[in-house]
Amino acid sequence: MIPYGRQDITDEDIQSVIDVLKSDFLTQGPMIGHLERKFAAYVGSKYCVAVSSATAGLHLACMSLGLKDGDVFWTVPNTFVASANCGLYCGASVDFVDIDPDTLNISIPALSEKLASAEKEGKLPKLIIPVHFSGRSCDMEAIYKLSRKYGFRVIEDAAHSIGASYNGSKTGSCEYSDLAVFSTHPVKIITTGEGGLITTNNPDIYEKLIRLRTHGITKTPSLMSKKPDGGWYFEQLELGYNYRMSDIHAALGISQMDRLDNYITRRQNLAARYMGKLAHLPLVLPSVSGLADSSWHLYVVRLELDKINISHKKVFELLRRAGVGVNLHYIPVHLHPYFQKLGFAKGDFLEAEKYYGEAITLPLYPKLTDVEQDYICEVMEGVLQ
Ligand SMILES: *Cc1c(COP(=O)(O)O)cnc(C)c1O
Repeated sequence: MIPYGRQDITDEDIQSVIDVLKSDFLTQGPMIGHLERKFAAYVGSKYCVAVSSATAGLHLACMSLGLKDGDVFWTVPNTFVASANCGLYCGASVDFVDIDPDTLNISIPALSEKLASAEKEGKLPKLIIPVHFSGRSCDMEAIYKLSRKYGFRVIEDAAHSIGASYNGSKTGSCEYSDLAVFSTHPVKIITTGEGGLITTNNPDIYEKLIRLRTHGITKTPSLMSKKPDGGWYFEQLELGYNYRMSDIHAALGISQMDRLDNYITRRQNLAARYMGKLAHLPLVLPSVSGLADSSWHLYVVRLELDKINISHKKVFELLRRAGVGVNLHYIPVHLHPYFQKLGFAKGDFLEAEKYYGEAITLPLYPKLTDVEQDYICEVMEGVLQ
């Protein structure tokens, strides 16, 4: 089966991990700082904090902005559940803003409308988590303007977006947000096995993230409530977690970053090839406006169901049966049983639901060959005929 996504591990990657295993530090050692500096330099942010996963990173990002019990935050339904869970961990309540059917990202008109009515009801969100679906940036400038008008904070869920750009800057530069959170899970753009990278330009947020990543503990005397008892002394200032990334993981990430630009080029190249080869089929392909700037984590097509005599489910089955490991991103978050118990119902976010009934994620990863891609397109053509 050709998978929908797959990591690429080289001999250099393996050697870099072996080197750490033979060194003095396995958990947070010199590799963490190295990866953080390299990533911050790449995206153009002041700070980067490496953590154990993007989910942990999103949780810490919410905590760093003071999200708490009684607060409200918004994200989109067309995302992985982690985009919503991170704020629920803080005791806040979630609501969703529907997607734009063209970009599959947060709909700016829907957001503006929802903000206007939330203001009237006195229920404005404390923060919003836009998701750069498939690696294509949301309209961050529009979101930023709304954040100024209504006074909410912005965390970019950039799990798909390592290497993506917006308005000439790399996603993660945080020009229009408080923080951005990336994933280094193996199906994403580069991998550390499990891992997440948070970027910000705010020194206070940075200090808080560093503390929260390690139990809320500080070893900095100026931050302590009393004079250190001795050389061993540290203080826990707030309730944090063990969300550290290990040096073993970080070494893999550092090594992978050397191929990041090549990965993006290859992903863009494969996306362009899909565009050409699938154009004549009854499919809605990703709109091309974001082609140059997307990191192309996912290549998603939508079936034109009124033009074919076969169901969405059947197309999916036949592709899998032919060895094409298609997937579906995403089951709308509000349709999961846990979220239905929170009060959400089918029909709440119609664009995300309609999309869910038509979408199929095709294989896309740097080592996918032209021959494999040609085969995928042939199978798709056969299935849709
Ligand atoms: C993968 C993903 C996450 C979570 O990433 P982990 O590193 O697996 O915790 C969060 N949000 C989105 C949109 C994702 O795709």
